[in-house]
Amino acid sequence: MPEQKPGRLHIAIVGYGTAGQAAAILLSRDGHRVEVFERSPSLGPVGAGVLLQPVGLRVLWEMGLLEIALDHGRRVDRLFGETPAGLPVMDMRYANLDPRIYGLGMQRGALFSILAAAVNDEVQVHCARRIISCSEDGRRIEDDAGCSHGPFDLVLGADGSTSLLRVSAGPPKLDRPYPWGALWCLLDESDWAFPHELRQRYVRARKMIGLLPVGTRPGDPTPRLSFFWSLPTARFEAWSSAGLAPWLDEIRALWPEAHGLLDGIADAAQLSRASYRDAIPRRWQRNRLALIGDAAHAMSPQLGQGVNMALLDALALRDALREASSVEAALAGYEQIRRRHVRAYQFWSRWLTPLFQSDLDTIGALRDLAFHRLGRLWGMRGLMLRVLSGTQLGWLGKVVLPEPFLAVLEHAGRADPAGSRLDSSVVSNRRENHGQFPAS
Ligand SMILES: Cc1cc2nc3c(=O)[nH]c(=O)nc-3n(C[C@H](O)[C@H](O)[C@H](O)COP(=O)(O)OP(=O)(O)OC[C@H]3O[C@@H](n4cnc5c(N)ncnc54)[C@H](O)[C@@H]3O)c2cc1C
Repeated sequence: MPEQKPGRLHIAIVGYGTAGQAAAILLSRDGHRVEVFERSPSLGPVGAGVLLQPVGLRVLWEMGLLEIALDHGRRVDRLFGETPAGLPVMDMRYANLDPRIYGLGMQRGALFSILAAAVNDEVQVHCARRIISCSEDGRRIEDDAGCSHGPFDLVLGADGSTSLLRVSAGPPKLDRPYPWGALWCLLDESDWAFPHELRQRYVRARKMIGLLPVGTRPGDPTPRLSFFWSLPTARFEAWSSAGLAPWLDEIRALWPEAHGLLDGIADAAQLSRASYRDAIPRRWQRNRLALIGDAAHAMSPQLGQGVNMALLDALALRDALREASSVEAALAGYEQIRRRHVRAYQFWSRWLTPLFQSDLDTIGALRDLAFHRLGRLWGMRGLMLRVLSGTQLGWLGKVVLPEPFLAVLEHAGRADPAGSRLDSSVVSNRRENHGQFPAS
């Protein structure tokens, strides 16, 4: 078969999560004809909140969506974790890497609706289509009702951590669930004392509570916090059937201020259950199929990178299709570029997760003693902050963020004297530019 120079391609995207949405936006803007196949009967976000890192914000900036994201999200300057006795375990400030950068806490619903509103009207989205396989040549997909769709010039597997298309790229090197997961939900921010910090509290590695400020979402001006409670997935049912009272008592003992925020929680069903996978495909692409997002590199959310990686994948794929001489060359180039970035994160995530989510008490005790101290050693602080911000590249390199992006981030993130989220003139300017978005 002669190589086809990428012109206007007919592209199928399987999955309408962050990776699928970002790819649909970027590829349709480049003139490609995009069809999305989503298994859920209706479109919407899953989960509570997410921390966007500077590398992910940079992709939103490239898409022209940074300002509306900043308008809703909450600037996060610091990650601080301690034991109930007040021993600091983790203390990282973005400003120690670069005073212009910060993270952005966002409600999943806000990110979903901002991306959904930016998806071109010409993109066809088919709901309730669970895609179970991709043909050998990567041009056809089949759903669980036995319908075949295609042929396409390119199929993108953006079907998340439990991807069914992963095996179509080749047998994975690793693909297994983590034994630990989490319960999470959104809470009213009320008068929470740390509106610009991700705060965590740990008991060894067995227990972890997290509170991340995530701001508002389109159509709902109430600022929220994303609440996280770590739990082995095998204990989800036991937790639910024990009723909320003993669990709430435990939280009151560990973190009275966090307990005060849980007044509105009266039913276990108000908390969503999250489980994670660790997946390393040997190949991210084969013929006309490419994997993006968690389908390509599912990992535990301990480093808070998954959404950022999904955004970076979509941008790298768009750029590769623009520059390469054929679709095949573009996919190979995309895999090479993104693998280089992701590899170190897979390593760190695998080794760090048991320090924060496991039954290993000795490991937890060592972490309490050493983690914070390590972060103050010469060289280690920079490394940890680069990993956190998503800018670590391989073992020695770093992702360079464009100066114009950093200038926008710095200007937008300036807190006004009253301590509100952003400079008020910047906010009103944005409202004029973006108008209103629908509620999610
Ligand atoms: C508790 C928790 C906290 C997290 N915190 C952070 C954080 O702070 N920062 C961060 O960057 N990341 C975080 N992550 C990770 C992040 O959520 C994921 O990495 C990210 O959502 C991956 O996006 P995706 O589009 O690849 O997959 P998903 O968001 O999972 O989207 C996949 C989509 O594909 C659809 N789909 C699945 N199978 C099929 C099929 N067979 N056919 C058709 N459609 C299908 C699904 O319905 C879904 O819409 C967290 C994850 C968890 C669980």
